[in-house]
Amino acid sequence: MITLTGIAASHGIAFGKAFLYEVEKFKVIRRQISDQNVEAEIEQFKQAVAKAKREIIQIRDNVAQRMSKEYADIFSAHLLLLEDHFLILEVTKKIKEEYKNVEFALWEVLEMLTKNFYELEDEYIRERAVDIYDIGKKILYNMVERKRVGLEGIEPGTVIVAHNLTPSDTVQIDKEKVVAFVTDVGGPTSHTAILARAMEIPAVVGLNNVTSQVKDGDSLIVDGLSGQIVINPTQTVLEEYNRRSVEFEAFQAGLAKLKDLPAETPDRYRLEIGANIELIEEVTSAKEHGAEGIGLYRTEFFYLNRDDLPSEEEMFKTYREAVEATFPYPVIFRTLDLGGDKLPYHLEEPWNQIESNPFLGLRAIRLCLQHPDILKTQFRAILRASKHGKVKIIIPMISSVEEVRETKAILADVMQELKDKEIPFDEKIEFGIMIETPSAAVTADILAKEVDFFSIGTNDLIQYALAVDRGNEHIAYLYRPSHPAILRLLKKTIEAAHREGKWVGMCGEMASNPLFTVLLLGLGLDEFSMSGVSIPEIKEIIRATTLQEARELLQQALTLSGTDEVEGLMRERLSARFGHLMERA
Ligand code: PEP
Ligand code: MG
Repeated sequence: MITLTGIAASHGIAFGKAFLYEVEKFKVIRRQISDQNVEAEIEQFKQAVAKAKREIIQIRDNVAQRMSKEYADIFSAHLLLLEDHFLILEVTKKIKEEYKNVEFALWEVLEMLTKNFYELEDEYIRERAVDIYDIGKKILYNMVERKRVGLEGIEPGTVIVAHNLTPSDTVQIDKEKVVAFVTDVGGPTSHTAILARAMEIPAVVGLNNVTSQVKDGDSLIVDGLSGQIVINPTQTVLEEYNRRSVEFEAFQAGLAKLKDLPAETPDRYRLEIGANIELIEEVTSAKEHGAEGIGLYRTEFFYLNRDDLPSEEEMFKTYREAVEATFPYPVIFRTLDLGGDKLPYHLEEPWNQIESNPFLGLRAIRLCLQHPDILKTQFRAILRASKHGKVKIIIPMISSVEEVRETKAILADVMQELKDKEIPFDEKIEFGIMIETPSAAVTADILAKEVDFFSIGTNDLIQYALAVDRGNEHIAYLYRPSHPAILRLLKKTIEAAHREGKWVGMCGEMASNPLFTVLLLGLGLDEFSMSGVSIPEIKEIIRATTLQEARELLQQALTLSGTDEVEGLMRERLSARFGHLMERA
């Protein structure tokens, strides 16, 4: 039995069998080919080589532009290797002489390169074997279309064990079969962790080396409350976790009773509670948990795991379904926030840029303003859906007033276009922005004059303000919502919005952490939006805390100079009043 500790990413306790998910596993099938097929197989190989060349040239040019010629030269050397006679000759020989299909022939050559690495006679080949292997793999991917050993074939009761799961991988997880997942890397507010909460499956991330400690089929306990996982537990440990799991479920069932009650303080301060969703399927569970609307629809998930861009019609149909299902409450559609860790791997550039700092790069509204046609298509779909219920639009990653103005101008054009075509939409649709960059928070007074509302994205605001990558387990201890800098940014933003008479919500994960509920209440937020599963406990705290008390706690917190002091105060307060929620804070 081994116990490992990582970062609790999604609550709950699960028991299951390990499945090691290696992104680079792919199936290479062996086929015997006939004489007539030899030329066709060779042609397929040539095309895959040509595609690999184009990809390398694209990377090289990108690197030359963003970094330096010196780095770009590495890729020029790779290009030369593609001309390498060894690889080409060996593969062609296997096709011609042994009648092997091209993927299999190439796979055999690559296997030979890795197995007999040190024994290779040719010194030139020996020195370049690793590079040749990498390039060969690239060509192979082009032929097998990088078909991963999918998650389709897994058995019910599986725990996925992976080095990393991208948001694209995570949305493919079948909840009926996967009981939990654990990863080597990742932080508590990475999109993968957020998705696990949305799917309501326990998850532990940032375990460092779980993939080297676990074997396929090992029996695992995943404790998404404490962040621990147990590999091949003893009977006694298993029984103990069974007991805890029953306790946790009873606790959840108890809280569920609060779901339909309003989020209103005893002194009658009424807050709105929304849910964050990524996919249309989550609307039902958001309502079941007691959400009064969708406070954040992360529409970019529509763009992942596909080979093409979604059409206006396709988006309109889905958006309309969400709007109708949520009525009489509103849906806040966030325009696509691709970039950062959400890359649509199957799309060509500019959608899949290789950037050295993707979270500071061509992400979200920046990408859209460089490719306004894509934004216009999405605006049209949202506007058309607005006719079917209550809709608001929110823009991610705003860092300047110019971006706001430019986006509004594009929206105005689209509105005019629809009017000209007599297509109905809500002409008074509210237009808001996410406050998730420090520059937006600091200039909130300027921005508030330009928009109808704000929603604060603390996941990014904290990462950018504290310079702490939200997905990096090595510095997760520095990712602290209770940092005085964050409190000041929140206060400034909320006050600026209210001075202009504008509504301000919060859709970052801070809104779902019971530790900070009273503090946020004291700051005067108008809305909290979170994963559906967290709604009942946040309602419990709000319903038992007066606005007066919350403001007093905030005043006290603002006098403290250290992050630990602020967090200590929050913990003290939560454990005194809501001890049973401490485990989840
Ligand atoms: C945020 O940054 O807080 C947010 C809600 O957006 P996302 O998590 O999708 O980046
Ligand atoms: Mg964000």
